[in-house]
Amino acid sequence: MTIRKITEYPNEVLGKTGEPVTKFDAELEALTSDMFDTMYDAEGVGLAAQQIGLSLRLFVMDCEGVKLVAANPEIVSTAGEQSGQEGCLSIGKVPAVLTRAEKVTIRAQDLKGEWFEREAEGYAGRCFLHETDHCNGTLFIDHLPKMRREMVIKRFKKEKKWG
Ligand SMILES: [Zn+2]
Repeated sequence: MTIRKITEYPNEVLGKTGEPVTKFDAELEALTSDMFDTMYDAEGVGLAAQQIGLSLRLFVMDCEGVKLVAANPEIVSTAGEQSGQEGCLSIGKVPAVLTRAEKVTIRAQDLKGEWFEREAEGYAGRCFLHETDHCNGTLFIDHLPKMRREMVIKRFKKEKKWG
């Protein structure tokens, strides 16, 4: 069990599009195992490679019964709308309300390199969008209006200083 250090805002890796995952080997399996350990330790529901400092299109999640590894994820379709709180382990879990699609289908490769499609609703659907965004160098605060984005960053910086 290896818990990796979580990369935090404003580290530049969080703003870069990840490289595609091309090798589906024991190394990738070990990496995703570390990612799950790191995510559970931080009490998160999803973790992208960017969040442990790697510029790779890869994430793991375990959210409302949807547990998976997604390499090279793409959003296939979205439907509906949900409004709810969202936070990010890389920004100290400071929450902000963000409207997202309610139902989301992703297409990605598993640990063996097999492509699969998976649909999720509600919080798990939100997680698909949040983690796929990470793989593309986008943070959830990038979707917020400027003032609310600055509020999240301000609170995060304040908590860091106190921590
Ligand atoms: Zn995040």
